[in-house]
Order: sequence, then C-alpha cells, then structure tokens
Amino acid sequence: MFNRTFNRLYVHVPFCINKCGYCAFVSRTPRESELAEYPELLLRELQLHPLAAGPIASIYFGGGTPSLLVPLQLALLLEGISELIGIQPDAEITLEANPGTVDLTSLKAFRTAGFNRISLGIQSFDNRFLQCLGRIHTAEQSHQAYQDARSAGFKNVSMDLMHTLPGQSLEQWRSELQQTVALSPEHISIYGLTVEEGTPFAHSYPADSQELADEDLSADMFELADELLTSSGFDHYEIANYARPGFRSEHNSGYWRRDGYLGLGVAAHSFLRDGYGVRFSNPDTLDEYRRGVTSGELVRSGEYRLTEREAMAEYMFLGLRLSEGVSRHDFEQEFGQPLASFYGAVVADLVGIGLLIQTGDMLTLTRRGMLLSNRVFAAFL
Ligand code: SF4
Repeated sequence: MFNRTFNRLYVHVPFCINKCGYCAFVSRTPRESELAEYPELLLRELQLHPLAAGPIASIYFGGGTPSLLVPLQLALLLEGISELIGIQPDAEITLEANPGTVDLTSLKAFRTAGFNRISLGIQSFDNRFLQCLGRIHTAEQSHQAYQDARSAGFKNVSMDLMHTLPGQSLEQWRSELQQTVALSPEHISIYGLTVEEGTPFAHSYPADSQELADEDLSADMFELADELLTSSGFDHYEIANYARPGFRSEHNSGYWRRDGYLGLGVAAHSFLRDGYGVRFSNPDTLDEYRRGVTSGELVRSGEYRLTEREAMAEYMFLGLRLSEGVSRHDFEQEFGQPLASFYGAVVADLVGIGLLIQTGDMLTLTRRGMLLSNRVFAAFL
C-alpha cells in the first residue's frame, strides 16, 4: 500500500532566548556550546536512521528558534542531508525565524545556505501585546526583519499572527490584519491564543479571566480574518492558513495529506508511512538526545503503530482541514473500501446540522464547521 516511509524532514531546534509566557513547546535558553554542537548532532542522528527515503520534497526547521543557529552550520547540515538522502531540486526549505534574532547579514547567509522560504513569528504589530506575550522583539523589528528578508532574496515569506489576545478588540485585530496585508507576504498563519496548562499564562489568565476573549469574539475574529484576507487575494486553504496563489505551505500540506516525515532533533515527532502509519518521538532533553546520538543509538519514545480505523479517522480529520476537503474516491483508493461504509451515518449527521457539505465526490467543512472543527473531528474518532 505504501512504498516510501517518508519524503519530508522536520528539524526541531529547542532553543529560545527567552521563554514566552504562553509557550508550551519544548524550548529553553541555550549555552553557546549547545548552539554550536546541535547541527552536528542532527546530522549524526540522520546517519543512524536505517530508513529508505528520498529525495526529500520539503524540509522545515521549526522550534524553538532555529534562526539562533549559525547559518554556516546550517548550510553544512543541508549539504549533509543532500548527500545522505537527497533533496529534490524544487524542494521547499523553510526556516522559522524570530524577528528579534535576524538581520540583513544573517538572512542573506540563510538564503545562501539553501533556505527558500522564511516564516516570521510576528504574532502582533502592537508592542503592548508583544510585551504581554513575552516576545523578545518589537513591532519595529518585525517590519525590519520583513524588509531584510526581501532584500536577502526571500521570495516566499510567511507570517504568524495571533488573535484572541488578552484584552484584544475586534477593531485592534482588524488593524493587525490590515498591517499584515499592507506588507504583502505570500503566506499567513493565524492562531488563536490558547492558554496551556503549566505555562505562566495559565496562572495569569485562569479560565474565567475577564481579559480572555469569549467564544463569540473569537468566532468574530476568525470570520474577520477570513473576509479581510480572502478579499485581499489570499486563498483560505486550511483552517489556520492563507496563501497567495502558488504559495501554500508544501511541507504543512504534506502533514494534512498524511505524507511521511522524519523528525530530527530534541523532542521531534515522526510519522512514517509504514503499514497504516507509525508515530514516535525523540527524547525531550538535549542531554538524553546527545547521549543516544553520540553512542550510535536512536532513542525513541511513544512508538505507536496505527490501526486501520485510526488511520481512517486521521485521514478524515486532517483532510477536512483543507479547503478542498476529502475525496470519497481517494479514500476508497487509500483504504480499499467506500467511505460510506464506515462514516455514512457520521457524515449524514454532520451534513444535517450544517457542519459538512457534500459536493459531488468531495466532503468539505462549512464556515460553521471550520469554527466548530473540533466537534467535527471528534465525530470521526
Ligand atoms: S519564541 Fe516560540 S518557541 Fe520560543 S518561547 Fe516563544 S513561543 Fe515558544
């Protein structure tokens, strides 16, 4: 059924200058020596994988703050990846960058190293919100980073924005969107603030906090982004993502299509297309990760082989995130059985309450379905 185990690489860089108050990702302040050794460890990890793959269709450096790493070392790492498993000539190679960590010189060096897409963690153009979030950069630095990325030759720039920030109004959110459109990036990702357990924000903003947006305001912000960005020429191609024509995230689109990807680095997750799919993750600490890699042993945790039913559910809720939705024909090709024989009743229910729509072969979320996507996805589990 599946003849390749992965065709994408995700590289996790678990370092940040400061920890943002809302952040639940695996990241911490690094020592200089840790930054220096990390790219070499990543390459050694890749050398240990006995996996048939390649050439790679996309590589995504996320974190954390990958832009803290030295461009020259990243260039050597990309060269190493190319030698070991090959990289397609048109591969999308993305670097997540914090605007407070880059300048024209470093951005030029990243471009020369082989990165052809940059994803800037803007989050907000209002310094009060940036400060509240614990970001290390200002709005002025975000503007500068964007201009520098253009001057460095990046023709594919993505921006991350956040809404439902504490005390944020719909009008302020409109202003954020307008400022983003005025800069004219190729791609925009939009996330609502979620207060995760164990973060400083969970303490500052308990569930009943008056400063957090209620469901109605959150829905209004989602709809405003949809209206404003689609009327400005962006395709709302995934629940949280917008792109100019031809600039969808190739790498993330692979996640939603269940392409296999290998995760390198501390706390990186992998999904291999073996059987119905295998998931596992790397150690959460640099010490444990280093110990495994330098002793020549891959340390994995949580290895899990999906059953057919789990793969089907995943196929549905990942595919429905995309604006095209799920093709019943493709489902049958993938699993050898008609979609209706498993999900006929679920689909009929969701269509009946206006969360899904059927058009010919395709099943897609309605606008309301996008807003209540968690409810839709739970129905397939
Ligand atoms: S920059 Fe990103 S990964 Fe780093 S602490 Fe802030 S939110 Fe977390």
